[in-house]
Amino acid sequence: MSLLLWFRNDLRLDDHQALQAMLERSKAENLSCRAVFISTPKQWQGHNIAGIKLELIEAQLNHLARSLGELGIPFEVLAGSDFNSQPQLLKNYCDRYQIQGIYASVEPEINEIKRDQAVTNVGLSLTLCQGHCILPTGSVLNQQGHMFKRFTPFKKVWLEHVKLETWCCFSPFNQPVQHAPALSNSEVNLGLPEHEQGAIDCTIWPSGDGKILQLAHDFIQTRASHYHQERDIPSLDSTSKLSAYLAIGAISPRRLLNMLLQHDPLLFEAHDEGHDEGQQAWLNEIIWREFYRHLIVAYAHLCKGQNFVSNANRIAWRNSPDLFEAWCQGKTGYPLVDAAMRQLLATGWMHNRLRMVVASFLTKHLLVDWRHGERFFMRHLIDGDLAANNGGWQWAASTGCDAQPYFRIFNPIRQSERFDPHGHFIRKWVKELKDIEGKAIHFPNKGLGLGDYPSAIVDHAQARKLALEEFSVISNKS
Ligand code: FAD
Repeated sequence: MSLLLWFRNDLRLDDHQALQAMLERSKAENLSCRAVFISTPKQWQGHNIAGIKLELIEAQLNHLARSLGELGIPFEVLAGSDFNSQPQLLKNYCDRYQIQGIYASVEPEINEIKRDQAVTNVGLSLTLCQGHCILPTGSVLNQQGHMFKRFTPFKKVWLEHVKLETWCCFSPFNQPVQHAPALSNSEVNLGLPEHEQGAIDCTIWPSGDGKILQLAHDFIQTRASHYHQERDIPSLDSTSKLSAYLAIGAISPRRLLNMLLQHDPLLFEAHDEGHDEGQQAWLNEIIWREFYRHLIVAYAHLCKGQNFVSNANRIAWRNSPDLFEAWCQGKTGYPLVDAAMRQLLATGWMHNRLRMVVASFLTKHLLVDWRHGERFFMRHLIDGDLAANNGGWQWAASTGCDAQPYFRIFNPIRQSERFDPHGHFIRKWVKELKDIEGKAIHFPNKGLGLGDYPSAIVDHAQARKLALEEFSVISNKS
């Protein structure tokens, strides 16, 4: 008789609370352990997941298989078709191996809750443990017992809760748990189709708990202290790039907090006093991640792709297919926007500042509904994540919770001058502009003979004027 760990969006062994719970019970009741992951290609297509993200998942699963083998835990990938096939697949597996209980990490989104309900409905015992957030969704509330609608008070209460706990993390490799003899799990091959971004570069995106923890450790020890000064410059490697791992659960956010506190035990106190700005600015972003995750669970309509602000339903999006296509291909004639989009297409990555710039440009300059951009990002980002992506898009489009005001319209020329002052980033990604010198690199192409580089698809001043008129419905009280 055995226990089963069901990996979902939590592809790690470090600080895995469901794994910990399973190992403790296996020791207490002398049960063996097994582990599975269910591949559901149809669901991946339906949810528009990037090929490069699937490659990272596959690579991480291979590391998991090896590490589980070292712990004597057999690991299998069960081939499902779509989301709904999972309960029956698990049932068959559990019958075959006389599984006494399944352990998994909570997935608090609507469809995932329904799926887990279906698992218990087929008669399986499913124990869910926390794992995706530092504080569980629904645990950071205002005095009326509701989720906050603004980030700053959420953050204040979040910090109050966090300060009350000690943040120790579990690692199966340094616990006195009894393991069966090591075994060799077979290689994982998800049968992924070729995709436009090409094979994942393992030097940029290594996998395996050890390497990912090392990346986080190195960032916190060194680059984090400059984070507040350099985080907005896309040509610098100044952010952690851990979002890709957080998105598939290959590193735990609790572990990141634990590392931050080990680096600076006075992190929270210093927060009040304004020291250690780099680490604190970085923690602030981790809290934004928590905010959006808590939000999407508290306001279920966000999972269904609806505007957070109901007045935004009145925006008459123009949704021009040609303008959208130009944006997707990085051919808008606005150098910074195009550089960002071309980097995304080629690598599956885009810097946060540029995500804000291109999202603002699509929604406000081109009046294309943010949901089109949101889907495009999910199809291309290595770190595509429902809550953060939805939060980011609705923030930029001014349709979201604690979003930027509707009248704030990023000027892509000013953004370029400010955050890519020497044009390094633009020249790297827009080859047609590599020989353009000086300030001209920031300006939209007014058709003045820049070879193949497209002319600007809209005029900034006109687009801004139109967006201000259109978006004013958001402030309309009637
Ligand atoms: P760092 O700067 O090192 O920050 C550390 C961590 O904090 C990140 O790994 C991430 O988990 C979290 N974080 C940072 N900024 C944000 C933010 N603005 N909102 C929420 N969490 C944040 N992030 C995703 O993980 N997946 C997405 O699909 C996604 N889509 C976005 C779409 C738009 C339009 C915008 C404006 C932002 C989006 N973000 C998304 C947020 C942010 O751009 C990325 O998290 C960040 O660029 C990741 O880089 P990093 O890991 O180096 O972050």
